[in-house]
Amino acid sequence: MRLDKFIIKSTDLSKPEITSLLRSGAVAVNGEVIRNEVTQVHENNRITLHGKTLTARASRYIMMHKPLDTICSNVDETYPSLLNYLDVEKSSDLHFVGRLDADTTGLVLVTDDGRWSYNIITPKKQCAKVYRVQLRDDVTDDVTSRFFHGVQLQGEVSLTLPAILDIVNPREVLLTITEGKFHQVKRMFAAVGNRVVGLHREKIGDVSLDIDLGTWRFLTAHEIQSFS
Ligand code: URA
Repeated sequence: MRLDKFIIKSTDLSKPEITSLLRSGAVAVNGEVIRNEVTQVHENNRITLHGKTLTARASRYIMMHKPLDTICSNVDETYPSLLNYLDVEKSSDLHFVGRLDADTTGLVLVTDDGRWSYNIITPKKQCAKVYRVQLRDDVTDDVTSRFFHGVQLQGEVSLTLPAILDIVNPREVLLTITEGKFHQVKRMFAAVGNRVVGLHREKIGDVSLDIDLGTWRFLTAHEIQSFS
């Protein structure tokens, strides 16, 4: 991880304070003074500040149940940030593992471990996400096969990867996708002439949403490892 990130995780110092300490030569990695905050360091390195060894706090892995009209951003914009629902220290050090639209509810993962979140969002791993979708029009019989074979989203070159559609009733379906293109679910239904009127994420990989709307919990060790 970056040296400044390591110092953030091991002290209560702010980013500007860390930059200034680095510039002054107060930080050493394995005995060598390092002034550049983007230097990559490893947990096994001995990192000192004014000669005292720093130990990084354990990473945090959190599930949140996103309400409507909140955004997966670290700052409030048109809607309040989902982080307002998270009462942990230094929540601004956390990042969202993929985003949901303001009008989408459901499972959101939050962490300060960039390597872990990479495993979930990288297209290489094709991590499955399950959405419960409410539709404006009845779903037609051909859509299961069209989604399985891939559809052309507006503005995209390649077809979507195979997706699984389970029909709960003509206006409600479960859709499993393994990629995370911008507004993907809404655009997939638009590509087959329908419209999403309600969207809720129930599952990411093996982790299922099991908490009330607007609440959060730490993931279990088993859930954390399931993405490694
Ligand atoms: N697909 C969408 O269209 N919106 C979301 O919020 C998530 C997936």
